[in-house]
Amino acid sequence: MSLLKQADSIKLSDQGQFLEILDVLGNDSVRLPPDQLDYLRYLQAWGAAYRGDYKLSDSLLKGLLNHSADLTLHFRAGVLLVNTLAERSRYEEAFQRQSLLLAELPKITDPDARKQALVIAAYLYEEAGQYDLAFTYADQLFRETPEISEYSCIAGHAELAALYKSDKLEGIDRKFQKGIDICTKVGDLVYANGIRFYEASLALQRGRTDIALQILKSNYADVQHTKYQMLISQFDASLAEAYRKTNRPALARQYALAVVDQSKSNRFAEPLSIAYQVLYLTEKQQGRMEAALAYHEQYMDTNKGYLNAVNARALAYQTVQQQLLAKKLQVDTLGKQNQILQLQRNLDKKASETGRLYILLLLTVLAFIGFWAYRVKRSQLRFMKLARRDGLTGIFNRQHFVNEAERQLRYCRKSARDVCLVLIDLDHFKAVNDTHGHAVGDRVLRRAVDACQAHLRSTDVFGRLGGEEFGMLLPECTLGNVLVRVEQMRAAIAAVSSVKDAPGIPISASFGVANAADSDYELRQLMIDADRALYQAKHEGRNRVSLFGVGMRN
Ligand code: GH3
Ligand code: MG
Ligand code: MG
Repeated sequence: MSLLKQADSIKLSDQGQFLEILDVLGNDSVRLPPDQLDYLRYLQAWGAAYRGDYKLSDSLLKGLLNHSADLTLHFRAGVLLVNTLAERSRYEEAFQRQSLLLAELPKITDPDARKQALVIAAYLYEEAGQYDLAFTYADQLFRETPEISEYSCIAGHAELAALYKSDKLEGIDRKFQKGIDICTKVGDLVYANGIRFYEASLALQRGRTDIALQILKSNYADVQHTKYQMLISQFDASLAEAYRKTNRPALARQYALAVVDQSKSNRFAEPLSIAYQVLYLTEKQQGRMEAALAYHEQYMDTNKGYLNAVNARALAYQTVQQQLLAKKLQVDTLGKQNQILQLQRNLDKKASETGRLYILLLLTVLAFIGFWAYRVKRSQLRFMKLARRDGLTGIFNRQHFVNEAERQLRYCRKSARDVCLVLIDLDHFKAVNDTHGHAVGDRVLRRAVDACQAHLRSTDVFGRLGGEEFGMLLPECTLGNVLVRVEQMRAAIAAVSSVKDAPGIPISASFGVANAADSDYELRQLMIDADRALYQAKHEGRNRVSLFGVGMRN
């Protein structure tokens, strides 16, 4: 047993010896008592997962989850499985198992096992965009780790990540220095600089480019030293952005290209998307439109890929919440049915008196079942509706927009009807956020959507494609009348600034229009063409509508 414990404690610090001990014990495993054999299986699963052999780790862990009688080991196996599922982006399964673990957590007394579960809970919820939950678990981890250790460093990092991403940090907070100090004390440069990255990002967002540059530059060598690719890309991308903002295009380009270069071996979508944005903006600023356009396309691609991945994780979380709710309702329904059957049995004894009651009871049973079935169905329908809608504006989300637009296009193709696709991008929207804050930005987004909706017909498909970009498919819209209609929407958005919610903010949008006569009834081609037209509208000074012409396609 002591050998197993020793292997467990060195598995991170001394891989070589860890594997050696496993080999020795593995050769002799028939002689181990069942509890020690289970412990060995857990460590073997850990080793396999570390090497990336998920097939082996899955089968070992599932075996343990099925039969291990040791509560702690059973729990640790669950934690490790959730970890490896998240690593493989199998989020739906990860959230399912995660919710089982959290239900077991109050019974677990082993401090390490508890902390491991809290770490993975904090990061999983953060990835699903559930920042308040992420913060709760990170904070719990913090409270369960009074001493300075690797766990309190991770807790500090996870707390700051959750606060940063939910936009809850006012300015450069004292919390940053505290977290950095703890991580530096335990010698964890990856987490210490991970915190510095959030600190620098916040400074960049708040327009304090000088502070951001100071943080990024003075720790750059340390970050390179960690060899941790994700962190290196994050630092490079932030430096590129900071240099762009301070008007040093050559440096901005240099750091952005470094991110692109790293992405050949490892693609981290968020830094890569920032890098392409910087490249596109610097090329544009220097008047190299050809190169700007090429980078812009790359930027759109990576940015959309990144947003899709975020949405997929959030949807996996919502799906699991929904399944849990449905299961709870089922259990409640069964409970009610049982109660009534019991009552019925008792009443049977007094058959004569209960004749009428009996019928009443049956009716109650039916009513109960009907009611609960109705509730399950209703909440499922509500969930399906939610999953198709964009949370902020209430219009279709990207995925549902694509599905509906493709359906309409098939229909229009059959009857050779006119149909146009419009892409809309709000102008200088970053400036609205920067000047007035995110809450006002969100409100403006809703106002712009309302303004467009007033000009839509029931067959038109309208969706938010991401950020401040929207798409519209307008069936029965000819080249002759599309410009008139879109022009009305442009004017309606430009009028938003005078509405009482957004006084004095100049709001406008640029529109790119493509039609099926030129682009065929293919959504992909229509999007590409409308995007070219939109780019042209931006280029010509914004707040205007541009129609795709075949001449633009080269
Ligand atoms: P351009 O005229 O070239 O389109 O300039 P822009 O500033 O609108 O363009 P850019 O794409 O650089 O900035 C888009 C900004 O939209 C970045 C981000 O801060 C903001 N944004 C994206 N999604 C949301 C959101 O859901 N709410 C708010 N408030 N802002 C958002
Ligand atoms: Mg945009
Ligand atoms: Mg914009």
